[in-house]
Amino acid sequence: LAGAASLAACGGSGAGGGASNDTANLDASEIKVGVAMPTKSSERWIKDGENVKKQLEALGYQVDLQFAEDDIPTQTNQIDNMITQGVNLLIIAPIDGTALSNQLDAAGEAGIPVISYDRLIRDNENVSYYTSFDNVVVGGQMGTSLLTGMGIIDKDGKDTGVTGPFNIELFAGSPDDNNAPFFFNGAMDKLQPYIDKGVLKVKSGQTDFDTVAILRWDGATAQTRMDNLITSTYTDGSRVDGVLSPYDGISIGILGALKGAGYGTDSLPYPIVTGQDAEKPSIISILHDEQYSTIFKDTRKLADAAVQMSVAVLKGETPEVNDTETYDNGVKVVPSFLLSAEIVTKDNVEAVLVESGYYTADEIK
Ligand code: BGC
Repeated sequence: LAGAASLAACGGSGAGGGASNDTANLDASEIKVGVAMPTKSSERWIKDGENVKKQLEALGYQVDLQFAEDDIPTQTNQIDNMITQGVNLLIIAPIDGTALSNQLDAAGEAGIPVISYDRLIRDNENVSYYTSFDNVVVGGQMGTSLLTGMGIIDKDGKDTGVTGPFNIELFAGSPDDNNAPFFFNGAMDKLQPYIDKGVLKVKSGQTDFDTVAILRWDGATAQTRMDNLITSTYTDGSRVDGVLSPYDGISIGILGALKGAGYGTDSLPYPIVTGQDAEKPSIISILHDEQYSTIFKDTRKLADAAVQMSVAVLKGETPEVNDTETYDNGVKVVPSFLLSAEIVTKDNVEAVLVESGYYTADEIK
């Protein structure tokens, strides 16, 4: 009951205590939604942005969709402009979750509700709602797929009894992205028992989030780190058996470094490398037995969730949420609607990605 009451309270005014932005009686065509996405350099965000825009426009709303090329000042300017233009609601996937305080304060003052999209905006009370995937579970799926790929657990999650020891290395996402530690911790929950038993060995010894995190999820930065790991740790005749990677762009960088070091042959096969987002280059890599797995997050469903939430808020209703505990942004626990994701390996590319219409068979040839 307490949860329901606080939800209703923050659903009403949206931005939480600012000026009123009464959209409930407006026609959709009079309402404009600002959509701020982090970058076009990764395919998933293009799909996210376009799906949100398409769905809102189909309902009659006006949409201003912007991408910021992973540059924080570009994103803050875009949001400033949206607020100046007088948008009625903001949907934001932040580049740096802590860098939007001025924008969120301004939105709060103008009574503009803010929906945090996929990545949580931190340290500000004017985040009305959050929609994402269950990021701890997603991290767990990365860890699980590393273990199945290496043959340590079977498809039902049962221990196969192999003792290794296998050498692995760990990568995490951008330290300024609230999701990154969720993924890393979720994955480590699965891997740690095997590290403790000695089945897995992080040969470099680099296991701290801060040490293994890759700023802006950048593939080239990941490639350099993997190059350095190979040189510092694997010139004694040992080999890398597995790499925890939290994002397909990072996986491509890792595989590039491994290839440069002679991996990808019969005598020195690629290690098991995970990923996330089911991006086209990685699906092609998976089909060629290079990358082992990715996590498919159906951006059509996330866009749909964000649109449903937006429409409810704009109508002055309380949107559906399914988590009111997990996403504390440092100032408040943001009511969230979380979706589930799916592990993809070579075995289910067709069933999961092609049959659902996410990709055509031709696109991933
Ligand atoms: C998203 C991931 C994505 C990563 C890099 C994260 O916030 O949740 O799906 O791989 O950003 O773009």
